[in-house]
This record gives sequence, structure tokens and C-alpha cells, in this order.
Amino acid sequence: MKYCRFSTQDGPRFGLVETVDGTEQITQTAPDAALPAFRRAQKSAHVPLSSVSLLEPVRPSKILCVGRNYADHAKELGNEVPAEPLIFLKPPTSLIGPGQAIVLPGTLSQRIEYEAELTIVISRECRNLGPDEDVRPYISGYTCANDVTARDLQKKDGQWWRAKGFDTFCPVGPIVTDEIDPWTGVQVESRVNGVLKQSASTKIFIFSIDRLIRHIAQVMTLLPGDLILTGTPAGVGPLASGDEVEVGVQGIGTLRNYVKSGI
Ligand code: MG
Repeated sequence: MKYCRFSTQDGPRFGLVETVDGTEQITQTAPDAALPAFRRAQKSAHVPLSSVSLLEPVRPSKILCVGRNYADHAKELGNEVPAEPLIFLKPPTSLIGPGQAIVLPGTLSQRIEYEAELTIVISRECRNLGPDEDVRPYISGYTCANDVTARDLQKKDGQWWRAKGFDTFCPVGPIVTDEIDPWTGVQVESRVNGVLKQSASTKIFIFSIDRLIRHIAQVMTLLPGDLILTGTPAGVGPLASGDEVEVGVQGIGTLRNYVKSGI
């Protein structure tokens, strides 16, 4: 199943995305909630996906992120590969959708960088999984995210509430799908102004999706709609006002945002 979330006259709705006559169309809608509840029997007019104004396709209670989950990226920032997952949080207020602006935080930071990441959407309450319990039933699907980072503040502050937490620093979308299998490897890429910057397969994760979910769920209860950003490959770099930045994950699509200066 693939779904999006989009603007309507009556507020945000979820949309079920299906390919009809060769084009992606919204074939039914569902009320705004933590996750969409589509009713298979419901009939509604088809709307081309390209004609709607997309929003972030998620409404998480929290956004968990993994630092250093690709060895080459740890190395490029001069960091050791961690012995256990390095987890941090971004606030839900940092979320934006496809096509929205990443706003540079004025004089507070001189170095804003993109980080392309495969992102897990949690399907149901998840706490203290058994050692042999399958994590897949707890995954609603996957989307793309850009873990935008103020790299100078990340180094200066020691902990990352500012570096990772500015408003607009978590673009997510364009859709959520459960039709990919990151265990067998999907390609995660970024482009700035059309130039390829990052490209790696999720096959080379240091910590598997199973390990990440188990590790987090030992500490806090994951709720439906919560996000886990799974870390970024090597090739991170700066963003400037006017840039167009894209995050692509094979089988999901491309999340496209632009960068503008703060007031
Ligand atoms: Mg990251």
C-alpha cells in the first residue's frame, strides 16, 4: 500500500495512492489521524497525485534518529563507528512536507547540511520486544526524510537539540509505502541542484532495522505514526539559500525541498 497526505478545503486528508491507467492517482481518502484508515469498499473520485498539494505524510508523536549508521559517513566526520546505536530526537515542530522551504536560521548557524535517510513509520504501539519477535508487524511503511543539521552547532553544543531541532529541519515525504524491503537493500540518494551527492544501499547499515527498533523500544514506547530516521550515507555537505535539495529512496520516490534564508 502507498499513501500520501494532502491539503483539501476541509483540511488535511490521507490519500490512498494507486497506479491507474499508468498514472499515480488518489483512489480514496481517509481522515487526518496518526495513521490513515482506508476502507477498501469506499468509492471516491480518482484524483491525479500530481494535481494535489502534498503535506508531510506522517503525524508522529516523536521523531527518533540514528547517528552514524553507515561506516563511511562516520569516517567522513572523523567519528568512530559506535558500539551500540546512537539515538537522538528531532521535535515534531521540525516537520515539513514536500516542496516546502528549509529555512536557514539566520546568524545562529553558518553551516547547514543535508542528510538523506530512509525513514521507518511505526504501525502500532511497540515496547520491549521479545528477543525473537518479528519487528515487521510494527512497521507501517517507509518514507524519505532529510535530517537537516546545523553542523557547526552539532560540534559546538555536544548534544544536538539545536543542531537538529530548528523548525523546517525535518522534510518528510512524498509518500509512505510498504512495498519495499530495506533488508534486501534499497538505494538512498541525495541531490543538490540536480548534482548527485549521496548514494548508498541500506544493505550496509551498521545496525539493522531489527536492532534499531529493539534498542529504542527498550527505553520508550513507540506509538503509531512515530518515525525512525535510519542514518545517512557518506557525502553530506552544505546547503545555501536558493538551493533545491532532493532525497530519493528507491521504490518510494523523491522528496524535493528548497532552501531559503530566515528573516
Ligand atoms: Mg542523520
